[in-house]
Amino acid sequence: MKVLKFGGTSVGKPDRMHSIARLIAGKDRKLVVLSAVSGTTNALVAIAAALTEGDHGKGSQLIEALFAPYHEFVNLLYTTAEAKQKGEAIVNTHCDYIKSYVGKPFGEKETKELLAEGELISTALFQEYLLEINYQSVLLPALEFMKIDDDNEPVHEYIEQMLTAEIAKYPEAQYFITQGFIAKNTKGEIDNLKRGGSDYTASLVGAAIRAEEIQIWTDIDGMHNNDPRIVKKTFPIAALTFDEAAELAYFGAKILHPSTILPAKKYRIPVRLLNTMQPEAKGTVIADQTSDKDIKAIAAKDGITAIKIKSSRMLLAYGFLRRVFEIFEKYKTPIDMITTSEVAVSVTIDDAKNLTAILEELKSFCTVEVDANQSIVCIVGDFLEDKPGLVNKIFEALKNIPIRMISYGGSKNNVSLLIHTQHKNEALNALNEGVF
Ligand code: ASP
Ligand code: MG
Repeated sequence: MKVLKFGGTSVGKPDRMHSIARLIAGKDRKLVVLSAVSGTTNALVAIAAALTEGDHGKGSQLIEALFAPYHEFVNLLYTTAEAKQKGEAIVNTHCDYIKSYVGKPFGEKETKELLAEGELISTALFQEYLLEINYQSVLLPALEFMKIDDDNEPVHEYIEQMLTAEIAKYPEAQYFITQGFIAKNTKGEIDNLKRGGSDYTASLVGAAIRAEEIQIWTDIDGMHNNDPRIVKKTFPIAALTFDEAAELAYFGAKILHPSTILPAKKYRIPVRLLNTMQPEAKGTVIADQTSDKDIKAIAAKDGITAIKIKSSRMLLAYGFLRRVFEIFEKYKTPIDMITTSEVAVSVTIDDAKNLTAILEELKSFCTVEVDANQSIVCIVGDFLEDKPGLVNKIFEALKNIPIRMISYGGSKNNVSLLIHTQHKNEALNALNEGVF
């Protein structure tokens, strides 16, 4: 079975839903994961915020505004009067349900319940459409099999057991439709996999049923070799390994939720990134094997703070790094890049919330220097030790850019550089010219 996930814009209009139905047509069985209609989750976040603040008037207004376009949606999605009526009933049921929160105490639990509505609506409408056009389709409620633990991590065994059992109930069905993003937590409450989490759902269910392939359908033609907003001549990367894709997803290639790679990698299930607007385009395939290209992609992440930690006591001493790291651990602040010399260590963080407290503690045994507004530029590819000249290509391209930190050799898949954000556009363009 294949898993196909369609994002918010891919289900965002009635004719897009019609295209999805055409795309999934074919003999083999499929599990289809859908996001909420684009804009709906954002609207639900705003409604939840208004209700949390106790502004129920604003909450009601936002609910009306969210649902107004859904009636036209239903009218255009279906052809028969009977299906239109069923679609209306779906919209009204969810609208009434959301309205039932107005005027009552509202907090975090209720927020998560509201956020789940987007995917519940989009899947119900789509399932009804498939039935109208006579597809053998079953709607599988994700809340019956998607579960996260107290650390917000998916409970893989549970998902596998429950989902396999659900699917086994319908030997005749050819299409299974389910919600991305939503899950239940250990308290049995409605919860979710964080914004953008539908990709993660697709990969989790793909792993659970050992799918032959996981397809992520969006509105761009795959993962690009550089940031198309900054660099003119970018192109889709044909193939990436799981490790390369994981580096890129973390460093801000927004197309894929960063956690998506892991479950697929575990069972070596290829993940294909495809474009609903251009279904014949090859897109990007993420799989186990490497293609022969050396440098595959460049990504950058802004909002980085660099901290230089210096102490003469570091010279020939052991335990110094442990003391440093313990402070970051205490303030639950992840370190991204790190470089060391004999008397100093530089680290970067992207969450500067606890920076003042961290610096205070560091100052008790070192001197510190802080640089804000930094960007990590990450060059991803196959940097095996026995391939000379690759790193040279990178630095040749960047010869006019001041570089604050260099990290190489941590994995064979990346070279990371830290530069001031003001040089980022120039660096990305120079690298594009120089390394591809
Ligand atoms: N609907 C959710 C969001 O907008 C999940 C997703 O689309 O992946 O974040
Ligand atoms: Mg997304």
